[in-house]
Amino acid sequence: MTLVYQSTRDANNRVSASQAILQGLATDGGLFTPLSAPTVDLNFDQLKDASYQEVAKLILSAFLDDFTADELDYCITNAYDSKFDTPAIAPVVKLKGQYNLELFRGSTIAFKDMALSILPYLMTTAAQKHGLENEIVILTATSGDTGKAAMAGFADVPGTRIVVFYPRDGVSKVQELQMTTQTGDNTHVVAIDGNFDDAQTAVKYMFNDVDLREKLAAKKLQFSSANSMNIGRLVPQIVYYVYAYAQLVKTGEISVGDKVNFTVPTGNFGNILAAYYAQQIGLPINKLICASNDNNVLTDFFTTGVYDKKRTFRVTTSPSMDILVSSNLERLIFHLFGNDAGKTAELMEALNTAGQYDIQGADADILSLFAAAFATEEETAAEIKRVYDESNYIEDPHTAVASAVYKQYVEQTGDQTPTVIASTASPYKFPVVAVQSVTGETGLSDFEALAKLHEISGVALPPAVDGLETAPVHHNTVVAAADMQAEVERYLGV
Ligand SMILES: *Cc1c(COP(=O)(O)O)cnc(C)c1O
Repeated sequence: MTLVYQSTRDANNRVSASQAILQGLATDGGLFTPLSAPTVDLNFDQLKDASYQEVAKLILSAFLDDFTADELDYCITNAYDSKFDTPAIAPVVKLKGQYNLELFRGSTIAFKDMALSILPYLMTTAAQKHGLENEIVILTATSGDTGKAAMAGFADVPGTRIVVFYPRDGVSKVQELQMTTQTGDNTHVVAIDGNFDDAQTAVKYMFNDVDLREKLAAKKLQFSSANSMNIGRLVPQIVYYVYAYAQLVKTGEISVGDKVNFTVPTGNFGNILAAYYAQQIGLPINKLICASNDNNVLTDFFTTGVYDKKRTFRVTTSPSMDILVSSNLERLIFHLFGNDAGKTAELMEALNTAGQYDIQGADADILSLFAAAFATEEETAAEIKRVYDESNYIEDPHTAVASAVYKQYVEQTGDQTPTVIASTASPYKFPVVAVQSVTGETGLSDFEALAKLHEISGVALPPAVDGLETAPVHHNTVVAAADMQAEVERYLGV
């Protein structure tokens, strides 16, 4: 029996792991979601000495159970190699009062690399398994980091093309240049006049458009997704929670069986949902602390039980979390109602039409696993400074949101459980904010800030940003949010 992945909106739409990865999104608008937690033998007396790749093998073979051992070995070895700047892949750093799990040591210096370095291998392997002849078109909306990480993975991969949409005024200069300088004949980058939610909504709409799907099929093309709505993004993210725990056991910070908290800077709810799945397979987790910035729709959701997107979208210094419609929350909602597709479809419809829904009657045990809070812009900057002063370590603004929220949480609850902060980006991706928070200097350009950051942190400039200032720009298309589909049709010639 293989694990069943079912659409969150249709109980009859059921597929295997490899099919779910190929399709990306269910055509009924739902998300493919595992109906049960697979059995995994989490023996930390052994796992403490396992490599990242070995932990990945354990987790992936349980969740992606229609891939063969050889197929997974091929995917894992090619994904987690010297593209990462440390053999640990995702090291745990001990700071004063917290542990930071560095998820930004891959080629684009944000945590999206953890999953997007393996997704192209999983997807092309799945395509071969199913004898797929169509070319796969990866359609992606990005709040800044997914776009680059997905292109880094898919550039020049035979049988694939990738189109990335990003909000023109919603990403940092470094993020934008990382994308517009992307090479690879199969890549297409488009800035839109609109925010991330506009981009994500239009992408979901294109996925569900039957006419468009037929037009593509006539040209032997089909869409898939590199967003965290694809289960091929989520499953590889479970790995590092297990790995982090094993590292804490290995270094004697905890004993086998001790509970830990994870604090996760959250946008689309993919990263923290992976932590939830880690808990479901038996990782000893006390609390999952969901950290938001000023776009605090999830804080309100967890504290009131009402999801209400009717609020002003705010552009913050942690742009990858500037999201009001958190896609992967749909999967948690599905689980909160006992995997009820009808109920989930009803709530998502309410979100669409009324802009809100409430979760009366939801599973209280699952909800009690979560805590939630948000950090303002001021608190985030102050947190970067505090961590620098206390630990001589510079966090990026997303990580600082999580770390500030964790501090609030401890003040309010007194909870002394050892806590790991999911550190989702290198400060080099957001150098102006990082430097300004530490030194108070204002008015620096991104590139002046990069040099300054190097000076104060002593951390080597990563290849991801070294030379970015002078790299040739290959993409300069800008369209209105309403014209995204027309742009896709033009680019694909359908
Ligand atoms: C994508 C991203 C997040 C948010 O992660 P989700 O899985 O969307 O919740 C946080 N920080 C950074 C740096 C990111 O790139």
